[in-house]
Amino acid sequence: MKFHIETWGCQMNDHDSEKLSGLLVKEGHEPVASAADADLVLLNTCSIREKAVHKVYSELGRLREEKEQKPLLIGVVGCLAQQDKEAIFKRAPHVDIVLGTMAIKQLPKLVGEAAAGRKRVIDTQEYPDNHLFPPEVTQRSSTAKGLVTIIEGCNHACTYCVVPTTRGPERHRPVADVLGEVQGLVQRGYREVELLGQNVNSYAGGCSFAELLDRISEIDGLEWIRFTTSHPMNFTQELAHVLVANSKVAPFLHLPVQSGSDKILRRMGRQYTSAEYLERIAFLGEGRNRLSLSTDFIVGFPDESDEDFEATMRILDQVAFDASFSFVYSPRPGTPALKYKDDIPMRVKSERLARLQARQTELTFQSHRRMIGCVLQARIESHEPTEAGHWMARTGQWQNVHLKAGEDSTLPFGELVSVKITGAGPHFLTAETL
Ligand code: SF4
Repeated sequence: MKFHIETWGCQMNDHDSEKLSGLLVKEGHEPVASAADADLVLLNTCSIREKAVHKVYSELGRLREEKEQKPLLIGVVGCLAQQDKEAIFKRAPHVDIVLGTMAIKQLPKLVGEAAAGRKRVIDTQEYPDNHLFPPEVTQRSSTAKGLVTIIEGCNHACTYCVVPTTRGPERHRPVADVLGEVQGLVQRGYREVELLGQNVNSYAGGCSFAELLDRISEIDGLEWIRFTTSHPMNFTQELAHVLVANSKVAPFLHLPVQSGSDKILRRMGRQYTSAEYLERIAFLGEGRNRLSLSTDFIVGFPDESDEDFEATMRILDQVAFDASFSFVYSPRPGTPALKYKDDIPMRVKSERLARLQARQTELTFQSHRRMIGCVLQARIESHEPTEAGHWMARTGQWQNVHLKAGEDSTLPFGELVSVKITGAGPHFLTAETL
């Protein structure tokens, strides 16, 4: 069969799609670039916000029309599948397969059953070993950076979040397994890895997360290690030290704060106050200046007053985040926050979001301007120049770089090159090769 996978959501989902693709290729199926050429389409879904769920159902509507024209198997996998289970068949009766996040290794079996004519096959069981996936099966989509899962699930209980339901409690991969996968990636030419987990810094698969970073950094040939996503309460002094002192750990930290108001943080179940968050940032000491810091904000959480929102604006300025991802609160089925009345009018939520994002754009622009004249390393992320003659590259601090090389020069995809920053915009840097 020819198959096509569409992926929504976070890097965990991107990596799950690489695993799903590997499982199908192992069975002799062939990946194709578009749903129009496929016999099997899998939607790897996200349910973190209502908008993401709407997109999935709207794509299912489009696929129903394709299925009326030709034989087509349709599968829904990922967080929405885990959350909605059989209800997906009710809402979209043309779906053939529903596969939960903790059952992805069952994909070939379910595809076989559906291809044999069985209707509405489903597996949303919680297999306890789903975090142990054979790395050699994974079909990687990028040669610049290898994604490596180190934890599945989350033991926190943020009141707005579906992840504890859709991904289950934490399961940690053993250290030797993680080291083996990274070693294998380096042997295949990868120079950068990103360690993944819903709560990556609570890692305890045989050592602390900080120690794991140090041990991975000893692998010869590896240049940068990244990780996402971290919880502030698991951000230790030991981890801050490694982040600042170990040159193989990319100088970038994404540490979601969500709100600057202690009242709202308490209602979100985040387990820290704004002062405790700032203490974690202070662990970085002067190393903070070398690092790029990003965060997540949720705006308009139930009962967020003007004063609470001003506290969020204050923490944005106090930390002077280099980047942030911000969204209006979206009530999710099955989450504890549903008991709160979603009482902030959408107009107010949107105004607050626009204000926060405008201030963030200014801060990002300032942070970019400070880099003009700096010489640093950036990894080439494009195979050829853009129409404007730039090569796309990314710094260790995770900034996009539009890189001007000589007229006929070819820059090696995936390699680190030395660049001098020559200009800055709010969304990217411009640079020249040295
Ligand atoms: S830490 Fe909170 S927001 Fe993050 S995955 Fe766990 S429950 Fe969700």
